[in-house]
Amino acid sequence: MTVETPRILVVEDEPDLRILLDRHLDSAGYRVSLAEDGIEALERAWAEPVDLVLLDLMLPHLDGIEVCRRLRQDERTARLPIIMLTAKNDTADRIRGFEVGADDYINKPFNLQELMLRVAAVLRRRDGGDDFPSRAIGIDGLRLDSHSRIVTVDDVEIDLTAREFDLLYFLINHPNRVFSRADLLRHVWDYDYTGYDRTVDAHVARLRRKLGRSGGWIETEWGIGYKFRPPSG
Ligand code: CA
Repeated sequence: MTVETPRILVVEDEPDLRILLDRHLDSAGYRVSLAEDGIEALERAWAEPVDLVLLDLMLPHLDGIEVCRRLRQDERTARLPIIMLTAKNDTADRIRGFEVGADDYINKPFNLQELMLRVAAVLRRRDGGDDFPSRAIGIDGLRLDSHSRIVTVDDVEIDLTAREFDLLYFLINHPNRVFSRADLLRHVWDYDYTGYDRTVDAHVARLRRKLGRSGGWIETEWGIGYKFRPPSG
């Protein structure tokens, strides 16, 4: 595997913010592409080898939710890590973002240091970071390879986002144990609970849908959280 400097696509229509992000990401050693609106974002994401997208949701021409949806629908960018930049308290937008496949979100106005940590964490996960020892797991038709990050159900490959993969991998590695949403945020999302339960719920819902018959093994423990219960026998 060649180790190249990751390229980050910044999609932000506010010039000051775009310049600020460009400068900080560049000085942290990333390559940076910039887009001012949703149309340009799609063009760049499909023309350049992008490793991560920082996606503002309020954009001219095509909003961030629609950009996210289209990126997920195109096989070139179906798994591209996407971090939404969302207005503080705009829970509805955040939920819509997760529903169309965003991996993470950062509230505006954001702390630059936190943003840089979040970017590094998402890229590390994508690369199969140290927290996730590499191995292949097979459970009754469900196969997961942590190195290639490929998941198949009955030999059909399932397209998962980076975060969906991490969530599944974490749950599979801790079968029959109940985790609260806060636990999952801490273990899978790398940051402390910020009072936003729906992040986990939206990811679990998408994961279940994508996994088909295997999705039912992720069980809801009402009032507590989730657990992975593999079929017995
Ligand atoms: Ca904006």
